[in-house]
Amino acid sequence: MTDQAQLRGALAAVAASIAAHAEELTALDSAIGDGDHGANMKRGFDAVSADLDALIRHPLPEALKAVGMKLVMTVGGASGPLYGTLFISLGKELAMAPDDYAGALARAVDAVAARGKSTRGQKTMLDVLYPVADAFGARRPASEIVAVAHDAAAATRDVLATRGRASFLGERSIGHVDPGARSSALIVEAVAGALS
Ligand code: ADP
Ligand code: MG
Repeated sequence: MTDQAQLRGALAAVAASIAAHAEELTALDSAIGDGDHGANMKRGFDAVSADLDALIRHPLPEALKAVGMKLVMTVGGASGPLYGTLFISLGKELAMAPDDYAGALARAVDAVAARGKSTRGQKTMLDVLYPVADAFGARRPASEIVAVAHDAAAATRDVLATRGRASFLGERSIGHVDPGARSSALIVEAVAGALS
């Protein structure tokens, strides 16, 4: 399969999963945020789907950058610039080292952390993205990486939020799964399913 066909399949799978889980993401964000994460993510990936042919007509690095720009423009909230940064950085990294997918993912997650002035352990999407990048770097099989992602998202339930809107709740943020961690796990699952 070509890069382009793989990217098409992966993005279509992500958009379908986000649409199917939009209400769940909204419910999670209603508990510890402002209840817009499902709508934000659905709007963004619907926009990617609607423009898919144009976005992915370039080689993989440029296509990933275009997808990231589209997400920045359409998702909104805190998560839009962060997911946008993830895709844009993946594109930039792959432009420099086309075969180093694991290195690209690791550095793209670092770029998200820099953009969010955040790190792992703060009850955000990074609590999923870092363990996934680590597992990918360790060449774990796809099914294991998906399990790592879901376990990591579920584990955010017990964490005190110290970044993002949920941090305003202090101790009351404990006991709820982070919506961005959950959406990250859904994205990882969808991409792994489409590529394997
Ligand atoms: P908003 O919080 O502006 O309403 P969303 O609801 O779309 O935006 O996204 C919230 C998610 O974004 C959180 O669940 C968290 O995972 C992630 N997030 C928020 N701030 C940060 C940050 N500084 N670093 C990493 N992730 C963050
Ligand atoms: Mg929100």
